[in-house]
Amino acid sequence: MMPVASPSLVRKAPAMILDPGSPLYMRWFYLPRLLPWLIPFFLNLSPSRLGPITEVLSQVTFDCNDQHMALAKGTAAERHLTRGELVTLYGQEDDYRSDRLTIEIRRKFGFEPRCIGRNELREREPNLGPAYTFATVFDDYTWLTSPGDYVANLFAHYCAQGGTFIRGKVVDLTQGPMPSVTLDGGETFKADKITLTASVWSGPLAKKLGVKVKVTAERGYHLALNNPAFTAPQPYMVTDAKVVVTPMQNQLRGAGIVEFAGIDDPAREELVALIRKAFRRLYPSLNIDEMESWMGLRPTTPDSMPVLGEARGAPNVLHAYGGQHIGLTIGLKLGRLVAELAGGRTPNANLVPYSPDRF
Ligand SMILES: Cc1cc2nc3c(=O)[nH]c(=O)nc-3n(C[C@H](O)[C@H](O)[C@H](O)COP(=O)(O)OP(=O)(O)OC[C@H]3O[C@@H](n4cnc5c(N)ncnc54)[C@H](O)[C@@H]3O)c2cc1C
Repeated sequence: MMPVASPSLVRKAPAMILDPGSPLYMRWFYLPRLLPWLIPFFLNLSPSRLGPITEVLSQVTFDCNDQHMALAKGTAAERHLTRGELVTLYGQEDDYRSDRLTIEIRRKFGFEPRCIGRNELREREPNLGPAYTFATVFDDYTWLTSPGDYVANLFAHYCAQGGTFIRGKVVDLTQGPMPSVTLDGGETFKADKITLTASVWSGPLAKKLGVKVKVTAERGYHLALNNPAFTAPQPYMVTDAKVVVTPMQNQLRGAGIVEFAGIDDPAREELVALIRKAFRRLYPSLNIDEMESWMGLRPTTPDSMPVLGEARGAPNVLHAYGGQHIGLTIGLKLGRLVAELAGGRTPNANLVPYSPDRF
């Protein structure tokens, strides 16, 4: 519900962003290209923006558990949804208490976690390293034990219901009463409504419609241990490392890091190493020699809010992207809203803040 980009980041970000040892990192030569995105991003980190942005995000997050349960029910995807707690770990209680604004805003939206100290943490999980002496526990959290299988199972269900899928790279997009897409093989498809949902690649396609959106890639890293000797009882948000450690199907996974760099730049081993370091602090006794990693792209706007709906002058192309750190979480909600728009219905939500024209 809360954007990852929050006021507490303002003080730390300038130093962090150029430090390859920090979970927020930018390749310096990328700065000139990123500036048009970065300036409004920093302006949105002010305390006065946090409340309104959280309010807008809560519209698409408040019922995400139910949205996923309802869509997956009765399909093979259902078994990948697990409901339980989320435990946020802090070095010291002060690390939690000092971020008063976050506590206040969470409270306003009805999220009041249970606070626990070192003793209870140890009782819950004796393997936990000594670096963490305080934690907050949120109930009613849902996580996926295999995001890849979950999405593949939903896709298989869609196909089994008669849904069709054509694979191809879209190289052109036109607007009009019957907008069209052209694939790199030259094939053109027309429809009364088209949805643009190309994540970090949406900008150049939107530009073809005369719509200027600001969406960039926050590159994130994933490190997973197969068949770990032990696993976490529930997901941990490890605040000092900005890494979420999640028990998965036969895996323990750590994911996090924000890197600003080109979409096609190679992944950086130094950043994978930061997640490895987080594992060592969390579980000093766990053998993590053999782990697999990947880097992925989070589509992020400068205000952390998704892009959803139609743009002025191009009403038959709908936009749906910009899910940033929670794109999988809110994807179903965005999909439902965009389906309502495509069907000519008026969704029961204020979509103005998501407008593609806001940039
Ligand atoms: C390490 C990491 C951890 C994450 N953890 C979480 C998490 O715990 N929870 C969560 O909710 N989110 C998480 N995210 C974020 C989430 O993965 C993204 O927000 C989400 O995948 C975005 O979905 P999308 O459908 O918009 O984009 P994508 O999943 O990237 O899909 C976009 C698709 O468009 C296609 N495409 C692009 N251009 C074209 C073109 N020209 N023609 C045809 N096709 C095109 C691409 O090939 C791709 O298949 C994480 C991300 C990372 C990197």
